[in-house]
Amino acid sequence: MQNIGYYNGKTGPIEEITVPMNDRACYFGDGVYDATCALNHVPMHFEDHLNRIYRSAKMIGIEIPMEKEEMRRTLQNLVDQVESDSTMLYWQVTRGVGMRGHDFSSVQGAPSVWAFVKPVQMRDPYGSYRCITVEDKRYYFCNIKTINLLPAVLANEEARLAGCDEAIFHRGDRVTECSHSNVHMIRNGVLYTAPCDELILPGITRKHILAICERVGVPVLEKPFTVSEMMDADEVFFSSSSALTSRVTEIDGKPVGGRDEATFARIRDAYQEEMKRECGL
Ligand code: PLP
Repeated sequence: MQNIGYYNGKTGPIEEITVPMNDRACYFGDGVYDATCALNHVPMHFEDHLNRIYRSAKMIGIEIPMEKEEMRRTLQNLVDQVESDSTMLYWQVTRGVGMRGHDFSSVQGAPSVWAFVKPVQMRDPYGSYRCITVEDKRYYFCNIKTINLLPAVLANEEARLAGCDEAIFHRGDRVTECSHSNVHMIRNGVLYTAPCDELILPGITRKHILAICERVGVPVLEKPFTVSEMMDADEVFFSSSSALTSRVTEIDGKPVGGRDEATFARIRDAYQEEMKRECGL
């Protein structure tokens, strides 16, 4: 198949899957999701992504109606059916279906499981990317991967209209993360990244980057940094399951980084190697 959609056991081409209007995703964005890329039909860091969606669901009181192993099998089966060596696997669990009402009492039956797999072009890890900064107007559940993404999609669109690749959020002067990735900087050979509090999503790519830094001997400081520190960093890059490690060379129209490519390249190359090993490439 070219792509595949899934809703509570129903499968078919994404464009043909229909969902009930009363699924609480439609009215409230009442659900959580996760996503990763699959290379060679192997979803990257699958275990971490599975664990994260169970954690996100628990944090908003949704009980996922299948065990982790069943979810893994179900999703792998979808990945296997798409004829492409490079796909995006997306899945979400919503609180379920019920007449609209803020309280949960109208929900009938179990939470809903949605998924899709579609071909994706992986980002060039050797490219250079441009960003804008945007005031972070999201709420305080950024550590939960919920499907409420309005401030993120608005910021991402602002970046696109400015001819850029990502929007870097800041709350006042503090840099948090990006519209759909984490952001890091390198200064004096040290990797700085925001701490995992309620202001950022604990990215799986971020987690693996930190493990790589430990392995290749790049010291890490999980500590908030400011917009001006970022503008004056030796290197800046953002990371996600689809952006991998994307080096930033311009922010708000001004050149940034470019002073410590060697340290960035050690992290990028180790990440590429890890990804290829995991996916049997
Ligand atoms: N931060 C936000 C807000 C995101 O939406 C994402 C990915 O979608 C990330 C960070 C990166 O997370 P991961 O590395 O797990 O893909």
